[in-house]
Amino acid sequence: METAEKSFLLRKKRIGIMGGTFDPIHFGHLIAAEEAYCVLNLSEVVFVPTGNPPHKSRRQVSFPEDRYIMTLMATIDNPHFKISRIEIDREGPSHTIDTLREMHHWYPPGSVQFYFITGLDAVLELPSWKDPYSIIKEASIVAVTRPGYSIERLDELPEAIKRTVVLLEIPMLAISSTAIRRRVAEGSSIRYLVPWNVEHYIYKKSLYIRDGR
Ligand code: ATP
Ligand code: MG
Repeated sequence: METAEKSFLLRKKRIGIMGGTFDPIHFGHLIAAEEAYCVLNLSEVVFVPTGNPPHKSRRQVSFPEDRYIMTLMATIDNPHFKISRIEIDREGPSHTIDTLREMHHWYPPGSVQFYFITGLDAVLELPSWKDPYSIIKEASIVAVTRPGYSIERLDELPEAIKRTVVLLEIPMLAISSTAIRRRVAEGSSIRYLVPWNVEHYIYKKSLYIRDGR
């Protein structure tokens, strides 16, 4: 077999994974995924809304189905964005390591390289996730910049984790789901913070109206 042919066969598919509660999904998530897709030359980005988030179990989170539908609507016009129900359909709490291992089984062994996309705030929490040292074996961690979190804070990570993190500077949007929920509860506008169809879904389903979160 020709060498070029061999290397083509060996070339791994590069897949981005964008995990999140997405309560609701907003333009900060979408720009992070799009930048990772372009800069890291990914073949696609899979959005994975959490089912029962272990980190957020103490506060109420919207129904998984509402978060899934909003994520679907926000990504529907982008042909290289996909969405997975893997965590939504799982019984019990969702752990990133379980999701990565399960997703690896979707592809022939050794044929895929995962890029797990997280904001700087989330990457700083990584040492407290289940099995962080296995996570960094299953996927490259991409830390995207987020307003309020300086790049220097990556130094807080244990050396072994820090070494594996790929830093990606993106156009920064000071948007959070928490702020959007608060704005809806207060009756303030969320136009231009979320895609228009997500905005209409929030109003139609009366999400976040009486929100003490
Ligand atoms: P919440 O305020 O409820 O925590 P959030 O806006 O942080 O919501 P999440 O669903 O918690 O959204 O985040 C999913 C992922 O997207 C995380 O890795 C988070 O760091 C990242 N992310 C969220 N908002 C931004 C943003 N504006 N810029 C860059 N990354 C972001
Ligand atoms: Mg968050």
